[in-house]
Amino acid sequence: MRYSNPHTHTTFCDGRDSVEHIARRAKEMGFVSLGISSHGPQTNNTFGFQDEKSYAEEVRRVASLMAPDMKVWLGVEQDYYGFCNIDYDYRVGGVHYIEGTDGAVYSVDHTEELFSAMLENGFHGSPTAMAKSYYGRVLDMCRKNRPNIVAHFDLICKYNEGNAFFDERDPAYLAIALDALEALSHEDILLEINTGAIARGRRTRPYPDMPLLRRWHELGGRVIFGSDCHDAEKLLCGWETAMEMLKSAGFRTAWRLGERSELFIEEAIEE
Ligand SMILES: [Zn+2]
Ligand SMILES: [Zn+2]
Repeated sequence: MRYSNPHTHTTFCDGRDSVEHIARRAKEMGFVSLGISSHGPQTNNTFGFQDEKSYAEEVRRVASLMAPDMKVWLGVEQDYYGFCNIDYDYRVGGVHYIEGTDGAVYSVDHTEELFSAMLENGFHGSPTAMAKSYYGRVLDMCRKNRPNIVAHFDLICKYNEGNAFFDERDPAYLAIALDALEALSHEDILLEINTGAIARGRRTRPYPDMPLLRRWHELGGRVIFGSDCHDAEKLLCGWETAMEMLKSAGFRTAWRLGERSELFIEEAIEE
């Protein structure tokens, strides 16, 4: 497979590098295409960039700098609470906040302390209650915002290396995640194999977990690699691990961003 990544963050949000720097590094690494997907505006806070026009202008400027060697696409990562007032080439959809039973809105992935507080205070320590809320919201987000790619499907596992908070193979938990995945298979959407937590040293596996990837393959779903890159040096973090996982889940092809006018292209995974 040729290198490509649709999920990259820049100084327009919480990424370390400018759009131009990340694009130059991708080109040096031999990428055929790259998508910029900073966090966009959202109604619950000002975490993402606010000025969509300036963001789009900068991504388009860098795209023309990189042409014709590497295609740069204008993307955005849109939260459940996110909104878009301009047209992007594609959108990555992710759920980063859920409401607890106490009515408070909790961040799923910001810090381990907040995650722990969410589980205890928001869901009375019940991982299945938390999972129901989270996966329900992932489905709502996909139906409401209609992203092209669903990001980090099991993000609630970010701080759960070694099953620190709950058992990821517990049938009750898995059933909730699998039900959501099945419902998602009826939507026109790419599932991202996301290595962002590996880059951060939080997890040894990508999102989503193997049982979910296997089921997505059985359902005839399509997959795309994304490193959720916040540091240009980690553009390809976890690539080999992700490809190995995809192969053992049964996938023989994956999708990537196109090199010219076609947004997504299907390609064989190398043996
Ligand atoms: Zn995200
Ligand atoms: Zn991201």
